[in-house]
Amino acid sequence: MPTTQASTTTFPDHRIFGFDSRGQLRANLHNGPDSHAPGALYSWTCAPTSGQLADKLAAFWEQEISAEEFEVLEQLEAANAEFELDCDECAATGVDPGGLSEHEPEECRVCHGAKRVGFATIYAARVAA
Ligand SMILES: [Zn+2]
Repeated sequence: MPTTQASTTTFPDHRIFGFDSRGQLRANLHNGPDSHAPGALYSWTCAPTSGQLADKLAAFWEQEISAEEFEVLEQLEAANAEFELDCDECAATGVDPGGLSEHEPEECRVCHGAKRVGFATIYAARVAA
């Protein structure tokens, strides 16, 4: 049996998937176990769909997404759509109700103009707190 380090040298990093504050899919890239700072977050990227995120990951990080990872992304994507609701803060207008000028409306601080908020947004806020 060959004793190569192929599995760790070819894929030295691990990824954690979740959502950003806008409810987009997000992937965080962490250092692998052999690095000088194992587990440290060093990059992340976001995209509205699992397919676009997979493309970004492949292009920017030169790491093709695995079938298991793509399945996780699709599950997250499905959960996100399922729990999406109209934004309470702006009454689904996408505009900050406390904005100072009606001629230059500011985007809603909760949904960021999306007019909808999802399970993901709530989840992200809890993680950040
Ligand atoms: Zn809103």
